[in-house]
Amino acid sequence: MARACGSCTLCCKLTEVPELFKPVNKWCGLCKPGKGCSSYEKRPPSCHTFSCIWLSDPSLSDDLRPDRCRVMLERLTDKTVLVLNEPSRPEAWRAPAMVKVLQEMVRSGLTLAVGNATRKQIILPEGRSVEDARQEIEEVVRGRTQLHNGPQPAQPR
Ligand code: SF4
Ligand code: SF4
Repeated sequence: MARACGSCTLCCKLTEVPELFKPVNKWCGLCKPGKGCSSYEKRPPSCHTFSCIWLSDPSLSDDLRPDRCRVMLERLTDKTVLVLNEPSRPEAWRAPAMVKVLQEMVRSGLTLAVGNATRKQIILPEGRSVEDARQEIEEVVRGRTQLHNGPQPAQPR
């Protein structure tokens, strides 16, 4: 059976919502924390398509629901997972149950970007260079910023 968010609303705080100009780490004005979205039927496309890893992966235990463990895992690309801590709990990802999940991800070849919106440490699987990972992460972040600010003018050559 598919999972449901239940009373978790953590992504409505940790992620940015370009359509609403909502920055990271700030509750969305439409969110009723612990209850849900007050505009669920009309929520913007980026909310509509968003799913954290816990929601889509039943192998993660119920205790690892983001509002319970204070860490939200997001698949950034096919090679990289974003590990975002609740700002008030920057070390939440070090809890043993979460470390076990993260170790397994790295063993399977995934890169982890761990931290918060502005500072991330990169944990690499064997064979991947830090430059390659950084470039990939920067490209995704730049793409989101463009979505937020509109297309950037081409740089003069
Ligand atoms: S963080 Fe995950 S489980 Fe929590 S509300 Fe968002 S999508 Fe649902
Ligand atoms: S619009 Fe709704 S789903 Fe999207 S961030 Fe705000 S409260 Fe959450």
